[in-house]
Amino acid sequence: MCEECLDEDGKFCPKNLFFKHIVKTVGKEEEGIRYKFSEIGECQGCLKCEFSCPEGAIEPVKYEA
Ligand code: SF4
Repeated sequence: MCEECLDEDGKFCPKNLFFKHIVKTVGKEEEGIRYKFSEIGECQGCLKCEFSCPEGAIEPVKYEA
């Protein structure tokens, strides 16, 4: 939750595909970071998200349209 992925200057995700919202964890809801799956077509596959997250919390997966 350092929120570096929400950086809107494009240094983290040039397409700003991460946003803060309620996420569900085991038995509760809390504020967290989500991905704009509805805009996944915007992802340019640069992998900046994987390499920029200081906690290594982002693991890209292959997406087949
Ligand atoms: S790989 Fe996609 S989601 Fe990750 S930083 Fe690049 S454009 Fe954003």
